Amino acid sequence: MSIHRHAMEHLDKAHRLLESGEVDHLRYAALEIRYSIEHLFYGLIPQYKDELPDNVIEGDVWRPADIIDMIADIDPTVAHDSEIRIGEQPAPGVAPTQMIVLGRQSGIGKDLLRKVYHKLGFYLHARTDQRPHDPSHLRKRLLKLLPFVEKFRGDTLSGRGLAEKAYFKCIACGRPIVQRTERAGRNPLVTCPNKRCGAIHEYIETDIPGVSEHKLLQHNMKCEKCGSDNWLDVHKLEQGANEGMIVNCCACQAKYQLRKWIRFERLG
Ligand SMILES: [Zn+2]
Ligand SMILES: [Zn+2]
Repeated sequence: MSIHRHAMEHLDKAHRLLESGEVDHLRYAALEIRYSIEHLFYGLIPQYKDELPDNVIEGDVWRPADIIDMIADIDPTVAHDSEIRIGEQPAPGVAPTQMIVLGRQSGIGKDLLRKVYHKLGFYLHARTDQRPHDPSHLRKRLLKLLPFVEKFRGDTLSGRGLAEKAYFKCIACGRPIVQRTERAGRNPLVTCPNKRCGAIHEYIETDIPGVSEHKLLQHNMKCEKCGSDNWLDVHKLEQGANEGMIVNCCACQAKYQLRKWIRFERLG
């Protein structure tokens, strides 16, 4: 049975509406396909619940595009189809001659949103020129797009959250944070999932093999007056600049105002 139960229920409804032959039902079929896609994306959230920001888990962030961006950053393999197979080795170290497929799962990526979800969105709204949508065009489009969602019916595996992970506590608020070891190699920065905190930590490998540590990402503001170092938490700087934060030098108490500015960087 497909692991995408809710998504497939909406897809079945889309099929029934399409088969009814009623012109108005075509619009509702488009809506059911969009629901189906939303369930495919929301079904990923529990698999990454330790790693996603709290506002995704609590439902404040709901746009599928935002969710898949965050998940793809955590685990780029989410976009690839995968299959688990096992087989008996004829002898130790000798590849099995026969493999049994235990299950498969289809990759989920932004192309599903671009190719299907957004294209159907056009038909859920009245046209700005106030002309009706062309029903034959919509029917053709539904029949063309259905297979992109239908392919998920054969998925029998879930459990993308399996990976080697590092666990540590946010230095600013103490919330537990999980980081995949593989991701640390691609992107050493990890943001606290607590939406009221957002502290940015930097992953640092130590001289001891297999041992790493995390430190708060900070910016050094050297005092122009006395030359002292003032280490400021990077995650507080943007909001501080928006609010015109005043910073006092820790040694001579010289006052600094935090400001944003525009800078052009030459790319080539
Ligand atoms: Zn935190
Ligand atoms: Zn100073």
